[in-house]
Amino acid sequence: MRPSAKALLLATLTLTGVASVRAEAPTDPTTSPTTSPATAPDFAQCLGGLKTLAEERGVPRTVAETALSGIAPDPSVVPATQSQAEFVKPIWQYVEASVTPERVATGQAKLAEWSEVLGRIEAAYGVDRHVLVAFWGVESNYGAALEGGGIRPVMPALATLACGDPDRPGLWRDELVAALKILADGDADAERLRGSWAGAMGHTQFMPTAFLRHAVDFDGDGKRDIWHSVPDALASTANFLKQSGWRANEGWGFEVLLPDNFDYRLADETTERPFSEWRTLGLKPANGAFPESAERRAALLLPTGAKGPAFLLEPNFRVILRYNTALAYALTVAHLSDRLRGAPSFSRDWPRGDRMLSTEERTDLQARLAALGHPVGGADGKIGPKTRAAIRAFQEANSLVPDGYADAALLDRLRAAGAPAP
Ligand code: CA
Repeated sequence: MRPSAKALLLATLTLTGVASVRAEAPTDPTTSPTTSPATAPDFAQCLGGLKTLAEERGVPRTVAETALSGIAPDPSVVPATQSQAEFVKPIWQYVEASVTPERVATGQAKLAEWSEVLGRIEAAYGVDRHVLVAFWGVESNYGAALEGGGIRPVMPALATLACGDPDRPGLWRDELVAALKILADGDADAERLRGSWAGAMGHTQFMPTAFLRHAVDFDGDGKRDIWHSVPDALASTANFLKQSGWRANEGWGFEVLLPDNFDYRLADETTERPFSEWRTLGLKPANGAFPESAERRAALLLPTGAKGPAFLLEPNFRVILRYNTALAYALTVAHLSDRLRGAPSFSRDWPRGDRMLSTEERTDLQARLAALGHPVGGADGKIGPKTRAAIRAFQEANSLVPDGYADAALLDRLRAAGAPAP
């Protein structure tokens, strides 16, 4: 689970790189931080403020004193936040790194091992077992990642972020206070309260605020233990999904094949049409048939434009995005759930020859689109639905396939079009 998912700061699909907040060390340790953790006197003063804030929000003073006294800044976590935005890899690399044959085989073994519990969780929350096990596999490699060296005490990590991350101090303060409430409630002690550098905890990597809202005790021992109890962790994830709008007996969507001469303007990723309409437009599921309920609705998404696979996305896909707003993440969970069911890999291949645009290049591309009269909603280097709409408008005006895909060829075209540099 990514911290921004819970803060709902980004309600858009992001096609740019995925920054993992799983239980591993940051992937790019070479990125230089632009900020440093607070100096020692500042940190002590900041901790004092956090204790007061926690007390104002209902945490007993003694709990905050015990948990925060004497802790030292964790120098590795602020650079980790800095590396997130820059860490870009193609969507297919992310999907394929997470949906390996080994990950599928282990997941299928876990489905067998936990079959009885998963049956009860399905009955209680209406979330399919393959989806739950897919979250488990992506978030912590079915718990194996929790044994790794990236796991650390949550409190120093969150305190360091709350006192040292200039971009999102409020988010980290909220998470820290939530972590203190977990201690106050008795679900965990400080020793057990361990997680990723961002405070994502347990088998399915709940942030503390998500824990308070969604964690459940499913094995009946009186504690919500997402760190050691697989039933608690999987049921908590099911509860999160149910409370986020998961529709029982519906899937996330599926890969589709597009007809020749398809009108790519229909792939705007937001307009939902009934399956019956998509069928009339010539789309075909890559495997099997359309769901029987022809009036269920879905939107069409082409993550890499006309050159890669196409997907019809049902409302449950947006629920997966509530866990982590990165499209590559959601597609990975969705695809792993299908593979656990025995489905094959994607039918169409990705445009593997494409070079990913850097943040700087994406920002340049956006500025040039805006300068040509195609509004992008702010040149921030993040290619979301607005930017893709602007790309489609530019492509249409220039007799290109209007698939909304931002690649190096498009940037070259924009630069050649004489659009002014930002
Ligand atoms: Ca329990």
